[in-house]
Amino acid sequence: MLLLFVTAACIGLTAGFVAERQSALNPNMPTIVVDAGHGGIDNGVTGINSGTDEADINLSIAKHLKGLFTSAGFNCVMTRTTQSGLYGTTAPGFKRRDMEARKKVITECSADMVISVHQNYCPLPSRRGATVFYSQESDSGKQLATAMQKELNSLYGGRENSVLRGDYYMLRCTKSPSVIVESGFLSNSEDDALLNDQEFREKIAYAIFKGAINYLSGNV
Ligand SMILES: [Zn+2]
Repeated sequence: MLLLFVTAACIGLTAGFVAERQSALNPNMPTIVVDAGHGGIDNGVTGINSGTDEADINLSIAKHLKGLFTSAGFNCVMTRTTQSGLYGTTAPGFKRRDMEARKKVITECSADMVISVHQNYCPLPSRRGATVFYSQESDSGKQLATAMQKELNSLYGGRENSVLRGDYYMLRCTKSPSVIVESGFLSNSEDDALLNDQEFREKIAYAIFKGAINYLSGNV
């Protein structure tokens, strides 16, 4: 009986939290979902020299992004705000549950744009810079990705990395433009060092933000 009560109280709290989060949204402004990839027992990839977990870098950049969008008056909802994953328990199927929880956030706030933040890793240690992925079924996703890629390339000293099509779950959660930003290669020593620098993370966030603003203002 006590267990039932506690479970009911938890569900009530969760429902209340979601309702509160949605009611705080300004209906006159676009809602941006910023999704920090991985978390909890899923660390993602790790820095070749630093040993830093991708999950932590993603969260740090995502928090800077949230600050930028919020300061500019946008509604900004993060899929995760702590180092924990979204899967509940670590029982088998946790990765699927984690992905579904992210989709739930996107659906419940009727996201107008989704930005997933990740870091790349490649057996070829010379690969550097950012790569932005989009769904091939989404023209708007490609435009958004292209706008962000341009800003990120200039941040990396004028690299010419191209946007890429990707068939990923996070790109198919909504019809709104969605991108996955792999903001650098943790398999490359120089990128690894940069991605461990707070100032550079802020610059990455600003490049992503600027790309989003350029896309939204038709400046692409
Ligand atoms: Zn990742």
